[in-house]
Amino acid sequence: MDRRSFTLGSLGLAAGLATPFPALSQPVYSGPNVILVRFGGGVRRAETIDEAATWAPYLRHSLAPRGTFIPDLRIDRLEGVNTSHAEGTLNLLTGRYLAYRKLDAASDRLEPTEPTLFEYLRRSFDIPSHQVLLVNGEDRPQEEFFTFGAGDHFGVAHRSEMLSLHRYKLYRSAMQLAEGRLPEDQLRGIAQERQALLTADARGETPAPSPEVQAFWARWRQDFGDTGLKNPRGDRLLTELSARALAELKPRFLMVNYQDPDYVHWGNASHYTRAIAIIDEGLQRLVAAADADPFYRDRTIFVITPDCGRDANPLAEVPFQHHFNSRSAHETWAVLFGPGIARGVIDTPVDQSAIAPTIAAAMGFAAHRAEGSAIEGAFL
Ligand SMILES: [Zn+2]
Repeated sequence: MDRRSFTLGSLGLAAGLATPFPALSQPVYSGPNVILVRFGGGVRRAETIDEAATWAPYLRHSLAPRGTFIPDLRIDRLEGVNTSHAEGTLNLLTGRYLAYRKLDAASDRLEPTEPTLFEYLRRSFDIPSHQVLLVNGEDRPQEEFFTFGAGDHFGVAHRSEMLSLHRYKLYRSAMQLAEGRLPEDQLRGIAQERQALLTADARGETPAPSPEVQAFWARWRQDFGDTGLKNPRGDRLLTELSARALAELKPRFLMVNYQDPDYVHWGNASHYTRAIAIIDEGLQRLVAAADADPFYRDRTIFVITPDCGRDANPLAEVPFQHHFNSRSAHETWAVLFGPGIARGVIDTPVDQSAIAPTIAAAMGFAAHRAEGSAIEGAFL
């Protein structure tokens, strides 16, 4: 079956199926690898895909021409839609809007209420959890909960694994307590730190990492130690985690949640443009790593897209916010390239809910709860 008929077939399936897939024996995955890069923390088109003004020249001038460039991806103007980071990320992962609820009343943490791409993928194919990865920043613990969702969908058995400093600290504290080499008072402090890390998940459920991910952290600890002072910080840390993950864990699906352009909330525009340039450098490293590795070369689709836009009002007291439902906060973009992806510019508007079903079609499964449909014209 060619890709187009698969896509149409999967849409038919979506209409016909009221319940999740029947239990099937899972085939081994033989499709393309997918690296989904959230160009995140909310960015505007002006500083990213504008040909002359971009702070991400590698993205705009080298990557966009390699595949399908969608300059007009939009977050729908539905009642209740918030143009923000967790929300936009869950739109990308579920192919729906408002597919989340607050994890607890006291915090603004969200958990998905519909299946995520991680769950669809691991439900459809026999892929171990360490090959379905989410790489996350340190100061957004709310995004620790996107690896599996609530309710009666696929859930924890089909989660991805998470690579983040939060997860590293869980590993490191467990090792330090097991080794018992430190003085008693330090060990007491580490036990308290570990308790706080564990209770960060209000669901009371922090699944243990697989042996492969534990080995990943053992190597990380050897290289960067216990202090947290040697490893890269901010979005450079996410690039480091992702590059090492590609080399060591060989994920079939990897999502990288870049975030640092969001520091512009505090009012300094140069933090924002510098953060965009740092993500662009990260893209260079990840694409170079994929192009140099036989496991990824010619077998990997990159999908690069922001979580949300930002305001464009130059008169605002603090410009570049994104919570006020302005038009440009709804305006994003996407770049897709790799085997099976067409080359060209899609010059009509595309909805953000199309990203998940497009990735699903590329990987050969149906995101049957997605509201959007796979992007016409993105495939060869
Ligand atoms: Zn923000």
